[in-house]
This record gives sequence, structure tokens and C-alpha cells, in this order.
Amino acid sequence: MIYDWKMELYWCLPVRMQETLLSIYARHLENVYYGPVYKKWKSLLNDWKSWPPSFVDEWRSERLRCVIKKAAGSVPYYRKSFMDVRWTDVRSIKDLHLLPVLEKQSLRRNEREFLAEGTNIKSLRVEPTSGTTGTSLKIYLPGQMVQQFWAIAEVMVRNVAGVSQEMPRAMMGGRPIKRGDNANPPYWRFNRHWKQLYFSSYHISKRTAAEYVNALRTYGCEWMTGFGSAIAALADDALEAGIPPYRLKAVIVSGDTLTHGMRESIEKFFMCKCFNNYGQTEKVALAMECVHGNMHVVPLVGIVEILREDGTACERGEVGEIVATGLLNEAMPLVRYRIGDHAAWAEEQSCRCGNPNPIITGLEGRVDDYVITVDGRKIGRLAAFRRSPTIHSAQVLQDSPGHAYLLVRPGKDYRPVHAAAVRGDILERVGKFALEIVEVPEIPKTPQGKTVTVVRLADRPEMKKTYEKIIRKHL
Ligand SMILES: [Zn+2]
Repeated sequence: MIYDWKMELYWCLPVRMQETLLSIYARHLENVYYGPVYKKWKSLLNDWKSWPPSFVDEWRSERLRCVIKKAAGSVPYYRKSFMDVRWTDVRSIKDLHLLPVLEKQSLRRNEREFLAEGTNIKSLRVEPTSGTTGTSLKIYLPGQMVQQFWAIAEVMVRNVAGVSQEMPRAMMGGRPIKRGDNANPPYWRFNRHWKQLYFSSYHISKRTAAEYVNALRTYGCEWMTGFGSAIAALADDALEAGIPPYRLKAVIVSGDTLTHGMRESIEKFFMCKCFNNYGQTEKVALAMECVHGNMHVVPLVGIVEILREDGTACERGEVGEIVATGLLNEAMPLVRYRIGDHAAWAEEQSCRCGNPNPIITGLEGRVDDYVITVDGRKIGRLAAFRRSPTIHSAQVLQDSPGHAYLLVRPGKDYRPVHAAAVRGDILERVGKFALEIVEVPEIPKTPQGKTVTVVRLADRPEMKKTYEKIIRKHL
């Protein structure tokens, strides 16, 4: 949204003015998200549950052929990578294996090579990925696709949970609506235009929980969405502070791994079902949990494959890597894109909810840790790395409450001032905190081979030696 000097300016304004600005901004976005294409798609999707599977399959194959033709014909990257591939043989989903898998690294090296020639870049919406793996990307989306996607999300995500865009809601997101070092309430801003209470994820504690809950009541919020880790932190703190439960219609979480404990806390405090929603900024794969607790893939957004390391398809119940082909984005086609998440096809593929779409399970690889401040606040989603295109990857390593290292792996054209900017961004959210920058040749992976954004040493004794060595060597 609004960054840098605009953000500085925003923070100087009184809360009332900030909220007016948010409403104006929402009005501007109204047409971006909810314009005519959105309305058309929403009405088309209304009876999706009764569509015959052959209808969906045909639509997907048709879209797949369009995307591949566009990629091969006018996208510089694919023109090279499809050179020795008979891409015209790909007529339907079962032929997808003929095409090479796209690594995130290849996309990150040059996003612009993925843009279809002849596309007016100014007409595209640019969304930076939050960099849950400590690295970031810019994703370009055509205006029409944004509306198609949000119509699909409204019908196949929100409505599945029994809620809708029109109902007053609370959002626990990553936007720095308030400075981390500003400890005074309110810890939210209300966007009147969308009846959306935007909570700060960075001020939740046992001390502040009651005010968060009161705000839900004051603004009549009926459901909540956002980062599971932050919503669970609020539920935990509220329960521990002895605040009576507050009933919502649904909580829809996304963006990080929902653990069993987090779900339990959320459902206990908000007295409703917690629905897990899987998606990513690239918008190539979407899945939503149904009332019976099964994660159904949303087939219109993309084609999901789950692959073994050798590239062959996993059997049901076998965990592999998610590789997805987006069906909506022709301006920046992503074909067989390795998202960096793990999952398995469920052994049991039928569900009482009546949704005929395939079920995935065991979504792993998105555990998004948090840091702990001296006053015991848990701060997650430290997505500041996205701001720096010269930083290859980064990680926050916390060794004690209130103290951490920012491990930075420099990329092309990197200068130390870039890491300092990221550090500043994180501190804006966290407040009083010692964060030391350490440049490293590589960000360590977990024993499972994953790169995580935040590592708290207290919770990862098995990695203590690795990190101690790095810190001794590089300080
Ligand atoms: Zn179901």
C-alpha cells in the first residue's frame, strides 16, 4: 500500500485522518477488485457445485492451451525453455509432464523475462510476494485477472465459510498501519468503505488483548481473516487474560502454517470454525477447507501437481512438492511452477460437503515463525525483505528475547545500506529491539531442507551449532 515517505506522512496524521485516507484508498481499489468482470464471474460461479466435472476439465484444458501458447509465443523465458519441447502436444492436463518444471530461482533472477511481449506494463497490477522463504518477487497481474480471482475467492473461499465481502470483518494482516514502537491504542484502523477493521499484527499481547476484542464488538465484526499465527496469538493472549470468548461466524486463515494448537485456540476463543485457506501472491494455486475439514483445490485458478524429487507424480498420501500452472494470468504465465510448499493428495478423496474437487492434506513448508520482544509480545510476518531487490535472501535469527541477528545473503548490486533499510523496516513494526546485521554467503536450511523467515534458537536446539558457527565467523 503506502510506503516510505508516504508512510511517514501517514503516521504523522491523526487516527481519524488515517481512517479517512484508508476509506478513500478502498474506494479507489473498489474498481480494481470488484468491477464489472468481478460481478460477471461471481454470478457465473454461483452454481459451481452442480457443474459436471467434464465441463470444468474442458474449461481447464482450454485455458491451459491458451496459457502455453502465449508462453511459447511471446514470453522470452519460455521461448528459450520450450525450445526443445513439443509444447504443441500439450492438449490437456495429462500432457503437462512434457513441459519442464519452473524453479522459483529462475523466476526471481529475471521477473521481466516472464512478461508477455506486447503487454502494457502500466496496465498490470504489481504485487510483491511476502517472501515467506526470506526472498521476494514481483508478480504482475492483468486487471481482468484480479477481478476473476476475487470473484472465485468470494464464492469458493469466503462463501464456503458462510461469510461474504459485504459482512463487517476484521483483518489481521501485515500492513504497518501503526508504528511498532507506538505502544498506545488504538491498535487498528477502521476502513468504513469496506466495513473492514484492520488490526495491527504487531501489538498483540496479554495487556492489549481486551482492547482488540472490544474493537471487534464496537465495529460489529462478524468474521475475521488474516495470518493464522497472529490470530492465534490474540486468541491465546485473550484466553490467558481471562477475557470471555467472543463469537464470530468464521475465521479464515492463510499465509502461514496452521498448527493444531493454533486452530484449537482460535476455535475456542472465537467460538466458530477456523478455516484454512491456501494461496500465494503468484495466484497459481488456491485451496480452501470445507466445513468437514478437508482442503479442496479450487480448480479454476490453476492446475496443481504434487511431485516427487525426481519429478514423477506422487501417489495418494505421499508428501511431495506442489507444482502449479496458473490458468488466469496470460501476462505473466507461470507453467509448472515450483511454489516451495509441500503437500499430499488425501487418501480419501470423497467429501460429504458435496464439493467434487480434489482434496490435499499435510500442507507443510510455511511455518512462519515470530520474534519475542522484551515485553513478551510475539511479532510474526516480518516481511520487510520484499523491499530490497538486491538482497538474495534473509532470515531473522533470535537468540534471546529482545535480541536477534538479521542474516543477509547479498544479491547483485547489494550495498550494506540496503540491509540497513530492511532492518529499519522491521524495527518500525517491532519497536524496541536489538537487531544486528550479519552478512552470510548462504541462509541455513532446517534439517527438513526448508528455509524459514524467522528462527528462534530456543525452539530449534538442533540448529544451535550451525548458527553459533555463523555468528562467530561473520561478526
Ligand atoms: Zn469437503
